[in-house]
Amino acid sequence: MRVMISGGAGFIGSHLVDLCLLQGCEVVVVDNLSTGRLENIDTYIWNRKITFVNVDLSDKLMVEKKLVRELEGRIDVIFHLAALADIVPSIERPYDYHRSNVEATINLLEVARHYRVSKFVYAASSSCYGLPEVTPTTETARIDPQYPYALTKYLGEEYVLHFGKVYKLPVISLRFFNVFGPRSRTSGQYGAVFGIFLKQKLEGKAFTVVGDGKQTRDFTFVTDVANVCLQAAKSQVVQEVFNIGSGGSYSINYLTSLLGGEVTYIPKRPGEPDCTFADISKVTRVLGWHPQVKFEEGVKEVLREIESWRKAPLWDEHSIQEATKSWFSCLS
Ligand code: UDP
Repeated sequence: MRVMISGGAGFIGSHLVDLCLLQGCEVVVVDNLSTGRLENIDTYIWNRKITFVNVDLSDKLMVEKKLVRELEGRIDVIFHLAALADIVPSIERPYDYHRSNVEATINLLEVARHYRVSKFVYAASSSCYGLPEVTPTTETARIDPQYPYALTKYLGEEYVLHFGKVYKLPVISLRFFNVFGPRSRTSGQYGAVFGIFLKQKLEGKAFTVVGDGKQTRDFTFVTDVANVCLQAAKSQVVQEVFNIGSGGSYSINYLTSLLGGEVTYIPKRPGEPDCTFADISKVTRVLGWHPQVKFEEGVKEVLREIESWRKAPLWDEHSIQEATKSWFSCLS
């Protein structure tokens, strides 16, 4: 199988690159390195089974040039993981998020049509559920994006399903819940909790816990997510949406107790759910996928690699207050 992985130099994408190469696939990594990092995949620099294409997927003409006219050979499967993440910058730069998460998706869907791929797998986000009314949350729950990141990831998913319907493109959308694991450090923006806490631990600073820390998240380990991507690609199932979670939901207080260290509390913010928890009965029934890595094991795994967060930005209550101003003013 020859697969294309957009965002292949990023967090989840690079783990999927590892898995696909391990399984004997040829891999075309597509990444503009805006938040992805070459060091995530540089162990493969001499591997002839991997091709790296640096292109911005929102640039239609360059996509056609580099991924259609210049790229040799067939493509069997496309995994679309490239996206801009994080809440705050999406509130500040909604148009950039629209280009990177919606227009780029349409451009890659057109590439998929050109190659007549046997599967297009889209990385969607659990943020589409907003403040879920019911947990565990099923795929049929109300859609209610709270900020531009959530909206644009959901619009991307709608385009994917629309191409499935109109052009009979074999598509699957996977709604990921709070993915964590090695390499999760991202853009330097204030973002996902693991990067923030791990850097604070490295520097001996207190963990900045939001609210009372009793809120829970469905933390899902990244290798489990890579596995479900590949399983979705190989399956005969098309035109379906699946929630991808760990099977549990864990409080921030529990996370800080596992990481070990001092805690300081910062204000609860608007638009943040008290609990995210995926109902994964559909994906276990239809795709036969089960998460393998327990939360505690996953946390141990990131602690083993904690040095890799050394270069991450260090946040404290003051810089977080500054960085989340637009969050409080727009979402309250
Ligand atoms: N969180 C926290 N301190 C931080 C950043 C995040 O306690 O400095 C909490 C946040 O309130 C949320 C959880 O960690 O309950 C996960 O946050 P993240 O931004 O990673 O994911 P999301 O809230 O989008 O699910």
